Amino acid sequence: MRISGQEKLDCFRQVCKSRRLSLTPQRVAIYKALIACDDHPRAEDIFNLVRASFPDISMDTVYRTLTKFTEIGLATLVEGCGPARRYDPITEPHHHFRCRRCNVIIDFHDTRFDALQPPESITEKYAVSSVKVTLEGVCDKCSQTVQ
Ligand SMILES: [Zn+2]
Ligand SMILES: [Zn+2]
Repeated sequence: MRISGQEKLDCFRQVCKSRRLSLTPQRVAIYKALIACDDHPRAEDIFNLVRASFPDISMDTVYRTLTKFTEIGLATLVEGCGPARRYDPITEPHHHFRCRRCNVIIDFHDTRFDALQPPESITEKYAVSSVKVTLEGVCDKCSQTVQ
C-alpha cells in the first residue's frame, strides 16, 4: 500500500514541526521533489528539479537538507549503490533490486525477506534495527541492449 503525496506532505509537516525544523519554502520544495522521484534520486537530481523554482538554491543546501531529512526519518539513504549517494522517500520496510549496468534501483516488497532473521554472530553483539535485501543483476532494459 502506497500512501498519497498529500499524506506524505502532511506527515512531512508534522515531523518538521515536532523536530522544530522550520518549514522553509526550499525545504518543502526539496521534499516535494524527493517524493516526486520514484527512482531513488541523487542529490544532484533533486537539485536540478528544485532549481526550476528556486534558481538561487545551492547544491550544498540540497545536500544538507537531504542529510537532515535522513536524520529525522523522512528519507533513507540507499547503501552500496556506487559513488553517488541515493535517497529514498519510502521509509517503510522494503527491498531493492539494483541493475549493475545502469544503476536503476527498483523497490519491491516480499514478506519472506521481511521475516529474515539476522545471524546470531551479529545479534549477540549488535542491535539490528532493520533488514534490507538488495538483489543485483541486469534490468530488463539493459538485457535487451547488446553491450
Ligand atoms: Zn539496467
Ligand atoms: Zn527504495
